[in-house]
Amino acid sequence: MASKRTSIIIFAVFFLTKSLFSQEIINLSPENRYFYSIDLNKATGDHRILVELTVPEMSEELVEFHFPKIVPGTYAIYNFGRFISDLKAFDSEGNLLAAEKLDTNRWKISSGGNLHKVSFWVSDTYHSNVKPAVFEPVGSCIDSGKVFVLNNYCLFGYFNGYKEIPFTISVTKPLGFYGTTSLPLVQTDENNDVYTAKNYFELHDNPILYTIPDTASAMVVNTKVMLSVYSPNKKVNASYLIKHTKELFEAQGKYLGGTLPAERYSILVYMYTGASKSGSAGALEHFKSTTLSYPEIPNENFVEPFKDIVAHEFFHIVTPLTIHSKEIHDFDFINPKMSRHLWLYEGSTEYYAHHAQVKFGIISLEQFLKKIQRKIFVSSLYFNDTLPFTELSKGALDIHKPQYINVYAKGALISMCIDLYLLKLSGGKYGLQNLKSSLAEMYGPDKPFDDEELFDVISRLTYPEVRDFFREYVEDHEKLPYKEFLSYAGFEFYEKMEREVPSMIGAGVESDSAGRLMVTELREFGKTLKLQAGDIIYSVNGTELSIINFYKYSDEFSSKVKDGDEVTVVVLRKNKNGEMKKKTLKANTFLVKITDQFVILPAKNPTAEQLEIRKAWINK
Ligand SMILES: [Zn+2]
Repeated sequence: MASKRTSIIIFAVFFLTKSLFSQEIINLSPENRYFYSIDLNKATGDHRILVELTVPEMSEELVEFHFPKIVPGTYAIYNFGRFISDLKAFDSEGNLLAAEKLDTNRWKISSGGNLHKVSFWVSDTYHSNVKPAVFEPVGSCIDSGKVFVLNNYCLFGYFNGYKEIPFTISVTKPLGFYGTTSLPLVQTDENNDVYTAKNYFELHDNPILYTIPDTASAMVVNTKVMLSVYSPNKKVNASYLIKHTKELFEAQGKYLGGTLPAERYSILVYMYTGASKSGSAGALEHFKSTTLSYPEIPNENFVEPFKDIVAHEFFHIVTPLTIHSKEIHDFDFINPKMSRHLWLYEGSTEYYAHHAQVKFGIISLEQFLKKIQRKIFVSSLYFNDTLPFTELSKGALDIHKPQYINVYAKGALISMCIDLYLLKLSGGKYGLQNLKSSLAEMYGPDKPFDDEELFDVISRLTYPEVRDFFREYVEDHEKLPYKEFLSYAGFEFYEKMEREVPSMIGAGVESDSAGRLMVTELREFGKTLKLQAGDIIYSVNGTELSIINFYKYSDEFSSKVKDGDEVTVVVLRKNKNGEMKKKTLKANTFLVKITDQFVILPAKNPTAEQLEIRKAWINK
């Protein structure tokens, strides 16, 4: 691996001493490769850029040029060919060749064995009105003079049958701009950067963020984590984020132990004002990077969601980078086959994000148990809990698309239960972290596993009972018996539990399209407060509320406020003219009975064996 990289660097430096597009140089090339170039200075005001490609050697009379229909990690069909226009093909003398568009993502070029160059225009996705909109972390932003978010598959295509040969990408950049990426950089000066990728997968998987630099970095074991932020009004900065996530990164480093499979990991943050085209905020994982798009809010407010997102995305460095099936390794960008192991790719990654935090003291045991409770709640009540998870995985793109989000709930819970089961069977000596290390050793970035064999392989590596676990709870319709698995570590599980809490608003609420909380039904304390159906809950005891912080604040309220305390509720209420006006309501609260579902509590009299497993599980 190392020697191969050295040869590419030497080659590319030599390559650049000559003019970039000379035919002579292409012939001298020791490896057949694509040579792409873009000039960010020439991006248009309507968010487009010209892309030029000197093609690899291909002897076919007809060649097909492709853009992805879908990319890994998105579980959505985006058809990136939608953003390509004015594609032209030329022979070595500059004569135009026939290029016919076959469908949204494919062009047929009559090469006659003499195709030399292809050029086309790319429109970005961030400013496009084309529907369906592309979720921003998956798309591209071409904002002349300001920022360029380049998910490379949005700009660069490949020839059918020529996905496995190397790519060179030359980027001419505005003065003062810096490109942050995990893509190998082989040459740079103040005007130009040159990157290489060993194949299309590597090119597609390493986004680049170009802007006036605001960067910071931290070491996680042997991996340099690079953070680059574009915040148009400078509300967020990279040094603040790194300072407040250092502890989390250190915990993640300890959790993974040993050496990590990447020297460099890039977190590319794009912050926007107003609404995003997709209407969503979030991130997309890549093997060695994360792209993140979020509304521009101040550092102090952004740091919490940032941590939650990064904790999850960074753990993707293990799965799928080092452990993945052939479906991902030989990813078909036009007709992808889905793996049955989303419990592993997304589920165990999500579980790691929370498990690492409780194990190394970033969050308390109580906070961790709350997160698990919430996942059980969501997967049991909002999703189909008896749909075999392997089927959900296989159908995540089409027939089971509405169930996909459950990978972050049920997928994480499957991982938690297998962790507890392995710890029980091994007397606390071997858990999910050990299993994933064993799998990473067996397989690795360049050696995919066989999708259908993974469960057998895992049970051979561990215990025969584990095969039954996968059969019953992952391949079949059985619900996970949380009570049993949690008891291994000395925790009690209650499907329902009544408790008394001070009433906060005494009303049922629904969120409207803006995330505001509208009163739908009144209970005892709501009547005392004189709330009315249709009121919007603006604040409680001075804290402004929306659907985003309602549940978190409710927990805080019930732990802080006592029976008989005065509660101040500000509502927005329609007056006679139909205008929403603020109205302040006050009353003394009283205790009411509520029913919590799926409560997890430490057992009162745990056995020595349970405590040993608990210690191994969460270091408590
Ligand atoms: Zn993920």
